[in-house]
Amino acid sequence: MQRSTGEYKIKPIKRQVRELLGYPYPRRIPKDVFVEQWVGISTDEFHRAKDADVRYMRNRHPLIDLGWSRSDCVRYLTSLGFANTPKSSCLGCPFHGNAQWRHIRDTSPDEWRDVVDFDAAIRQGNARANASGNPLLGQAFLHRSRVPLDQAPIDHVTTAEWAARQDELSDGPGMEELEHGVTDGCSPWACRGEADTALRRDDFGLAS
Ligand code: SF4
Repeated sequence: MQRSTGEYKIKPIKRQVRELLGYPYPRRIPKDVFVEQWVGISTDEFHRAKDADVRYMRNRHPLIDLGWSRSDCVRYLTSLGFANTPKSSCLGCPFHGNAQWRHIRDTSPDEWRDVVDFDAAIRQGNARANASGNPLLGQAFLHRSRVPLDQAPIDHVTTAEWAARQDELSDGPGMEELEHGVTDGCSPWACRGEADTALRRDDFGLAS
């Protein structure tokens, strides 16, 4: 995930920002030229707020400035008539629960095709990293079952499957997380993969 966050999310954002500023790579960006980027991290997760790592981007965290928690945000959105606003996430996030995968499959066939193709493409890791001598050890899958996404058991989690997971992982995810994914939302600037993958490598589909 750390590798993919840089490769698939941060790099395209930086490329676009440079273009918007009028200094596409490799042009040098003057010191006083920068964008201000607003990142929606709430107070529950303030520890994930970070400065940008390049001078031409400055991160602001308006929800933290306002002192808003996740439930403050939900309350505000509900007051505007946006009840049931889903948490934000990347399309191909390996932290999705089965409900999120089904939602993509059943409501957005094009996105489902994209994400199934992406899942197949990451099986051997990142081509550039492999070429540079940092090969992926094992195989990568988006779904926790370590089965290609279009064959993964996303329609339900069987009791046997859940019990098997508990045997494998004493602190493994519960039914709720298998179905609905992790509770918090996130962004490319606070990808939980950076923190969690090392700890839970096996849990998120990296099979050796
Ligand atoms: S953890 Fe967050 S940033 Fe990382 S892939 Fe999932 S949704 Fe995207």
